[in-house]
Amino acid sequence: MNFEKILADQRTFFNSQKTKSIKFRKMYLEKLRDLIIKNEELLYAAIYKDFGKSRFDTYTTEISFILKDIDFYLKNLNSLSKPKKVKTNLANQLGTSKIHSEPLGCTLVIGAWNYPYQLSLSPMIAALAAGNTCIVKPSEVAEHTMKAMAKIINENFPKQYLFVLEGGVEEITEILKLKFDKIFFTGSTKVGQIVYEAAAKNLTPVTLELGGKSPAIVTANADFEVAAKRIVWGKFLNAGQTCVAPDYILVDEKVKDSFLDTLKSYIQKFNYQPDSEHYTKIINRRNFDRLVNYIEKDKIYFGGNHDSQKLHIEPTIMHEISWEDAVMQEEIFGPILPVLTFKNFNEALLKISEKEKPLAAYLFTNNSEEKESFTSKISFGGGCINDVVMHLSNENLPFGGVGNSGIGNYHGKFGFETFSHQKAVLERVNWGEPDLKYPPYTEKKMNWIKKLL
Ligand code: NAD
Repeated sequence: MNFEKILADQRTFFNSQKTKSIKFRKMYLEKLRDLIIKNEELLYAAIYKDFGKSRFDTYTTEISFILKDIDFYLKNLNSLSKPKKVKTNLANQLGTSKIHSEPLGCTLVIGAWNYPYQLSLSPMIAALAAGNTCIVKPSEVAEHTMKAMAKIINENFPKQYLFVLEGGVEEITEILKLKFDKIFFTGSTKVGQIVYEAAAKNLTPVTLELGGKSPAIVTANADFEVAAKRIVWGKFLNAGQTCVAPDYILVDEKVKDSFLDTLKSYIQKFNYQPDSEHYTKIINRRNFDRLVNYIEKDKIYFGGNHDSQKLHIEPTIMHEISWEDAVMQEEIFGPILPVLTFKNFNEALLKISEKEKPLAAYLFTNNSEEKESFTSKISFGGGCINDVVMHLSNENLPFGGVGNSGIGNYHGKFGFETFSHQKAVLERVNWGEPDLKYPPYTEKKMNWIKKLL
């Protein structure tokens, strides 16, 4: 495939100014919404083939997100794209100052496989809403979903405006050599570095949505029923293959036993069985083997069974875990939940601060001092107090990482800004200007300048 030609055609199309029309953007967003609704069954079937994800989970964690994004931009596009008037300083008086949100141009979106629709289409929708052209490269690891997106989009959208590129590392390596105006990447920190390096060669701005080890802290002041129920849901959703899933638990040593007991009861209640409609499999053999290696028999508190034929791993809680254990060295990204304990809440926060900044962090407590310390003392992309994962469902909050977990953010108006340049324009009038700024400069002018500036 001639990637250079596809991008060159997109650039010609962008330069035709067509994508800058709000009417044009809305027309294609509406078209995309109709296509998604019309092809809902195709989308369910593809993701089921990739990793056995149910219709319910696919709707709640993928399709509904995309439809919500489209509706948000259809509703807010006029106000988001309107130039914003700001105050004009004294030196430029009688002029007007405005900030214009202009599209960056030709964009590239690279998606991850774990929420294949949402992670490719959500940034793509923001790119189109902001008036850009877009090439989307979903993850080849979830092959059927990649093909479904390519079919729906490439058969219905002009290639010079929007194109889904099917391919793996070889193709993406080639396309990363080209000069885009923006690259939006979702995936691992390791590949994020490769993308960042390639983008730097062309001075292309990037948004990197990466991963990390996201802690869930449970203090003695937590409501254990609520904490256990929500952690179990957020951790075992998608079999733990969620970037913002709680990676590990840090629980106050005093309450560890009763909390573990409550955790176990919710896993049993939610009935995560192999072949269950509500529990997905591990995406591939490579990840299955990596995950099974973490399971140390003598540290299993609950679960630990796995089936290499079905690529199924039972929800597994591991206890008696230390920071040095293998399971604590990298993001788990699977249904294994290590539990560590702490004696002192502030020491637990300090321990988190010594690690790479996580994509998410969660605190369960009813104590306001602990809430305040959690929010102010540790750095993380985003998170919740008394819940997990749900912060990303609020489009009024920016979603993104910090440090090793990412650069930049999106969702709602933040997505629009991520794909826009804020262009400053000052317009002056042709009269009413004192002579102060122009030579010859005199002592008197200097005195005035000192007073005014
Ligand atoms: P990955 O980094 O392996 O792949 C992501 C994308 O990069 C894919 O499209 C893949 O084709 C491409 N890619 C792979 N190797 C490449 C290379 N050498 N050069 C250029 N591109 C390459 O990640 P993954 O396995 O798809 O996803 C899992 C990771 O993504 C986890 O770390 C998870 O936390 C993270 N993640 C983050 C978010 C977020 O929003 N922050 C969301 C989902 C997943």
